[in-house]
Amino acid sequence: MRFVSTRGGAADASLSEAINAGLAPDGGLYVPANMPILDPATFAEGDSLAQTAERLLAPFFAGDLLASELPAICAEAFAFDAPRRKLAMPATHLLELFHGPTSAFKDFGARFLAACMRRLRAGTDRPLTILVATSGDTGAAVGAAFHRVPGIRVAILYPDRRVSPRQAHQLGSFGGNVDALRVSGSFDDCQRMVKAALGDRDLQASTPMSSANSISLGRLLPQMAYYAHAALAHRRASGETLNVIVPTGNLGNAVACLWVRAMGLPIGEVVFACNANDTLPQFYAGSPYRGRDAIATIANAMDVGAPSNFERLAHLFGGENEARAKGHAESVDDAEIRDVVLRYARSDGDIFCPHTATAIRVLERRRLAGDTRAWTVVATAHPAKFDTIVEPLVGRTIDVPHALGAMLRRDAFAAPMAADTDVFRRWLRSHTPL
Ligand SMILES: *Cc1c(COP(=O)(O)O)cnc(C)c1O
Repeated sequence: MRFVSTRGGAADASLSEAINAGLAPDGGLYVPANMPILDPATFAEGDSLAQTAERLLAPFFAGDLLASELPAICAEAFAFDAPRRKLAMPATHLLELFHGPTSAFKDFGARFLAACMRRLRAGTDRPLTILVATSGDTGAAVGAAFHRVPGIRVAILYPDRRVSPRQAHQLGSFGGNVDALRVSGSFDDCQRMVKAALGDRDLQASTPMSSANSISLGRLLPQMAYYAHAALAHRRASGETLNVIVPTGNLGNAVACLWVRAMGLPIGEVVFACNANDTLPQFYAGSPYRGRDAIATIANAMDVGAPSNFERLAHLFGGENEARAKGHAESVDDAEIRDVVLRYARSDGDIFCPHTATAIRVLERRRLAGDTRAWTVVATAHPAKFDTIVEPLVGRTIDVPHALGAMLRRDAFAAPMAADTDVFRRWLRSHTPL
């Protein structure tokens, strides 16, 4: 399988090349040259999540250096489950993606990317610097996945004071080969700084860099696995396709779901739930796509004003108008998020993180409008990561998952940095890797 840039101005690349590069040389994002089509019969009934991933991703790895390693990579990345459980609301399931080491779905992608990169680095002696801009959860997942991996250093950039206290603690808790930088600006500023550094040829020559953002194929591809796994299980149980509501920020998780559908697997409607950052809802309501500044909300991992995977979305459908005709996004404000968290804790005893709550709210609107179809809501993080928001609403403390608790008990440090691409480039030059 070859991969091409969404902007069409770069040579095609092998999977390993695309994973190593992060961003394509023309500034676009890598996408498969042709989406492979899989017969659902390729999958077996008793397949684990890791086995589903292996079968699903085999066509993307075909002919690549890493092809023979795919089973081992999947076993490493999918070492925990993505259970789908029935909620009290009729015909509604929750797809729980937060059972990894940092309690958010980003663990799947980060661990898969680390498993790929570690193999691709073997035998090279120049250290690689992984840059990651995070609105909260990516940085921790990437830090955890690459912590102590030889030959790799990680620089995490996050918007200072716009992540939850526990997220901030996690980000600064690694030390060693993982540096945390708290940027006085927004997530979009962090993303711009990363993009500028990655696109700087001189800097690349002295300090080889790659990205671990959801623009990286090595993160996007594994995120397809849990959708395929859930959709196949749902088809077996009900004969139906899986309708999904995805809490959306940078559009990485949602595009992974659309790619699974494009491969011919039984996914039905895919709805994007956004917080008050309404770039996508405005687009789907008919406005031309326009990235804007992010605003801070209590679903902070979705505080994105210019979703970078929008390019992949438009590319998948063959243009912005074509994409608009075939999708839907809705915005949910902080008051509604709080209301959802509070009501479900009281009525059903279900506790949702603020991001998951946006998707629950979008589903409620559909139910109120008479939609009785089966829907699966994606739970992107464990509520304990957002204790300062969730606990006052539900009126009790939330048990902390074991791995998250261990991270919170370590010391944490993050260096302050101005939201300035040159300051970051200087920092990268002066911090000799390892
Ligand atoms: C990253 C994140 C999202 C948004 O996912 P994208 O792939 O950026 O759209 C939603 N919820 C949580 C908890 C996240 O960490």
